[in-house]
Parts: sequence; C-alpha cells; structure tokens
Amino acid sequence: MSDKATKIIQESLDALMQDDTFLPDYEGQERETAFSSLISILSTPNHVHKSFLRVPLQNGEVVRVPAYRVQHNDTMGPYKGGVRFHESVNEDEVSSLASLMTIKNALHDVPFGGGKGGISINPKDFSKKELNLICKKYVQYFNDVIGPDKDIPAPDAGTSAREMDWMMAEYKNINPGIPYRGSFTGKSVKNSGSLGRREATGKGVYFSLRYLLHDFLKNRRDEFQTSENKFFKTALEFYDRPLSIAVQGFGNVGSVTAMQAYNCDYLDTKVISVSDHNVTLYNEDGLDIPALLDFANDHHGDLPTTEEEIHDLGISAELRDRDDILSLEVDALFFAALGGVINKDNVQDVRASILIEGANSPITTEADAILAEQGVVIIPDILANAGGVIVSYSEWLQGRETLYYSEEQVTKILFDKMKETMDRVLPEFFGDPYALRQNCYIHSIMSLCTMLHIRGKLY
Ligand code: NAD
Repeated sequence: MSDKATKIIQESLDALMQDDTFLPDYEGQERETAFSSLISILSTPNHVHKSFLRVPLQNGEVVRVPAYRVQHNDTMGPYKGGVRFHESVNEDEVSSLASLMTIKNALHDVPFGGGKGGISINPKDFSKKELNLICKKYVQYFNDVIGPDKDIPAPDAGTSAREMDWMMAEYKNINPGIPYRGSFTGKSVKNSGSLGRREATGKGVYFSLRYLLHDFLKNRRDEFQTSENKFFKTALEFYDRPLSIAVQGFGNVGSVTAMQAYNCDYLDTKVISVSDHNVTLYNEDGLDIPALLDFANDHHGDLPTTEEEIHDLGISAELRDRDDILSLEVDALFFAALGGVINKDNVQDVRASILIEGANSPITTEADAILAEQGVVIIPDILANAGGVIVSYSEWLQGRETLYYSEEQVTKILFDKMKETMDRVLPEFFGDPYALRQNCYIHSIMSLCTMLHIRGKLY
C-alpha cells in the first residue's frame, strides 16, 4: 500500500485513539494493542492475486501479460473495484487503489469492501479480438476469487462497458447455473447494466461542489459563525457569487462534470477552461461545452487542437499548453485525468481556491500539505468521485433482483447518498481543525473499526 494511504490511516487512528468516546471498551494497554492491530489490518491487503495471462496474438506470437486482482478488505461486504488496462499498472498501484476503495465504500456506507484489478498493457496495442481474449483470460485466471458475493469488478481507466460485458459473458460460461448478473458492474444497459452508470461519477463529482457551496453553505453557514476553520472561511467567499471553473480531463468523468457545471441551475457557474492529453482550451467568457462534447464524441474523445478546428466548430477558445490549466486563475479546479498531477514541483503555481478530486489521488502528499496550509479547500477523491461505486451498488442490486430503475431513480439514489455522506462529514469539518480529506478518513475508519470490533476481530 502507498506511503500516503498508510500515513493518513495512521493519522486518523491517532486522532481516534485520543477520543475516549470511540471504542470505549478498550482502555490502557488493551487500547494500545487494539489500535496497533487496526493499523496493520487496514494498511495491508487481505489478498494479492497476480498471474501472467497467456495471450496468443493474431500474428501468431504468444505473449504473457501481467494481471492483478488485489482484495484489500471485505469487512463491509464483497470486494469491489475497477479493472484498469494501462501500461503503468503494477502491484503497488493496484494495492493502493484497492485500499482507497475500502475507505471510499465505508465513508459512503456502501456495503462493499475494497478491491482493484489491472492488466499491464496499453489497450491501443491490441486488436478488438485480442482484447476480447484478454478479458476472457482475466476471468478464467481469477474465476475462483471473483463473483457476485466475493469480488465484483467494474470499469476503470482503459476499460468500459464493453470489457465488462465480455467479462460477465465469460463468467457465465465458466459458472453455469450460478447467478451472474451481479458479477460485474458498469456493463452496457442492454446487458443488465444500469441507466445513469456512465454519467454517475461526473455527476457526483460536480454535486460535491454544488452541495458544499449551495445546499450546505447557503443554508447552514450561520451554524458555523464562530468557526475558526480556515477552510470554512475560504469556502464562504464563494457560496453566493459567480464561480469560474476549470476541468482537467475531458473523458467520461471530466466531460460530464463540465456539462453539469455548464447547465447548473444552483450556482452561477462559468466553465472557462477544459483540457485533455493534448491541449488546454480557454475562454474567460465561458466555453461552449455542448459543442466541445459533440466534437469529442466525433474525434475519439479528443478536444480540438488547431485554430481551424475551433473555427469550423463555430466556437471561441484560445489554445494553450496542456498543463496550463493547472495554474489558471479560477475559483474551482476539477481534476478528472490522472493521479499525481499536482506535486511538489508545481503546487506553488496553483491559483484555484477550491480543488475537486474527480481522479484518484491527483494531489501528492507533499502538495496536499502545502495547499492545506494555505487554506485551499480540497474535496477529496474518496468523497467526490464515489458516484461510480454508489451507482454500481444500485446496478448490483438491480442485477440480483432482475429489475430496472429509471435514470431519474438512479440519479436520486446517487445524490441522496452523496448528500447523506456530506451531511455527516461537513458539520464536523467546519467545526474541527482537520482538512476535509482527514475528516473523511476519520469517518470511514470509525465505521470500519466499529465493525471489526463488533465482529471480534481486534483480539
Ligand atoms: P477517461 O479515459 O475517459 O478520460 C481521461 C481524460 O484525461 C481524457 O480526456 C484524456 O485525454 C485526459 N488526459 C490524459 N492524460 C492527461 C494529461 N496528462 N493532462 C490532461 N488530461 C489528460 O477516464 P475517466 O473514466 O474519465 O477517468 C478519469 C479519472 O477519474 C481517472 O483517474 C479514473 O481513475 C478516475 N475515476 C473514474 C471513475 C469512473 O467511473 N470513470 C470513477 C472514479 C475515479
């Protein structure tokens, strides 16, 4: 597991150790022992499965590709987490992401544990037929450890509904007569997927900002009048004034987030910049997000990169370097691309007052500490980007019951769940000295520890 995750879990446990009302059954030496057990339980995965999939290519060559399934913790329910296809996939990365899923699910009271999978390939190097074979092999190799009540994979970077459809088909083939609809989530809607799943993460990411500024601060700020919390003071500057927004990444999460901001009826928002792996686009009067989305849909997900393309699209936008978006003078900056994009080398360039983590771990530990010092509000990944797993839970339930919810029902489930979590963490956040990330970890770890205690796992 990453040093960052271990450190924040340790800090959360240290804070809880000092709170006599938490796990009061444990006192003195027994309390010390219980808390040191907790750190080893939560900072170590239960299982790390690794295989080298044997894949015959269409050109006759046979290759071996490294594949992983890490099952971090199943205290709250079956392991749950995506399968990533990317060249950078390795055991440490998958383990770290699996632990993040444990914390995220416990924070939102989603009855799943934390897992993650990955295959170390660039999917663009393989034909459709070869990718189909790789998906089947993944299920064959890990069949014994996955399943609707054991471990339920979902899409992640480099995978989509198509790969989940293929994987579920293979699971059904290998396990005849066993319920299979809940074995994978993020499937296509025609294949027992859920309406609203594709948009769920981006909608939830935007909702986290909207709820903080509009629903929470607009209505409840008086309750915190005496708060000395520096993050509260930062956020308070923005609840009732026009908000400039930038979104890094224009894929599944980023494009939906940008559209939500563009169409928002609750806040006076203007999306002045979006970016992707090629370019940053900027217009201080606001970008035409629907036109950019149409363009991306027609161009393999990419934004326009030339003056000519922008002209032909009939919009107005300046072309800037890809990473310029990170240092723009904006009120709120969303991350929806990669991990580690804000680090010790560029943190001093960040000008936004509110940062929202749509991607997993876009801010490194060093950068996080510097931003917290400055009172920058960071809505952390485990809070902001849980929409995908919340709606995956709804898809899993629909699969088990063989019933279908409308998109409105699914969006309501998503927003109600996010609201419930934010109502739990925000009042304490504004009343205590911790940053929101720490506060979320403390809440999540409290739930996990309470369950471990009830089940007698601390002896
Ligand atoms: P995606 O592949 O659909 O989109 C990624 C976007 O990032 C693309 O627009 C790509 O061009 C852009 N990008 C890549 N490298 C970049 C760079 N160096 N600078 C700027 N932009 C760059 O992926 P997605 O599903 O939208 O996921 C985005 C992030 O959110 C990932 O980190 C993913 O792990 C995380 N996430 C996704 C979900 C989900 O449900 N899709 C859920 C939780 C977290």
